[in-house]
Amino acid sequence: RFITLEGGEGAGKSTQARRLAAHLAARGLPVLLTREPGGAPGAEAMRRLLLGGQGLDPVAEALLVFAARRDHLVTTIRPALAAGIWVISDRFADSTRAYQGFGQGVAQAAIEQLAAVALEGFAPDLTLVLDLPVETGMARARGRGVAADRYERLDTAFHQRIRDGFLGIAAAEPGRCALVDATPGADAVAARIATLVDDRLP
Ligand code: C5P
Repeated sequence: RFITLEGGEGAGKSTQARRLAAHLAARGLPVLLTREPGGAPGAEAMRRLLLGGQGLDPVAEALLVFAARRDHLVTTIRPALAAGIWVISDRFADSTRAYQGFGQGVAQAAIEQLAAVALEGFAPDLTLVLDLPVETGMARARGRGVAADRYERLDTAFHQRIRDGFLGIAAAEPGRCALVDATPGADAVAARIATLVDDRLP
């Protein structure tokens, strides 16, 4: 099974990915926790390029995240799934739809073409979309001192487009996606996610 966590800055994806991995391990399941951009040596090298602050053109950025995703899929995700391991990824293709698409204006049709080439129809069994108000997420990200990433300089409207983009994705694909209110504390969100996953992927 392949489960992805998605959401904007400060939504708590990384914390919840770890908590979910621990929950599945407690169910006795073999679990691999991974992340994007990255999750394989080549893809991590591409992550350094992406987050290096050079300011890539949005289409170039979309090409690069899908190159990294392809490497992640082939090198890490598919072999693990083939070995019966449950894979949890902190971000996946919906992040490109949201950030490069809704955020930076790359045409969704172009993104789907890249997805078709890179993923060949592969998709998560379940995507948890962690949602919270933009101001709350920005405040949390600032609080942990990492909000100085390259998107910190961008305005609230940018982050609002990301949030609306994720909400639209969740609404459009209810079979794959589950919307999770990320406003409560980490324990409450983790409990909600554990219940959701146990219900949907028994
Ligand atoms: O998951 P995390 O918040 O650590 O993501 C690392 C960075 O990569 C963030 O700044 C995020 O906005 C960015 N990102 C991106 N495009 C993607 C995925 C992530 O710009 N497709």
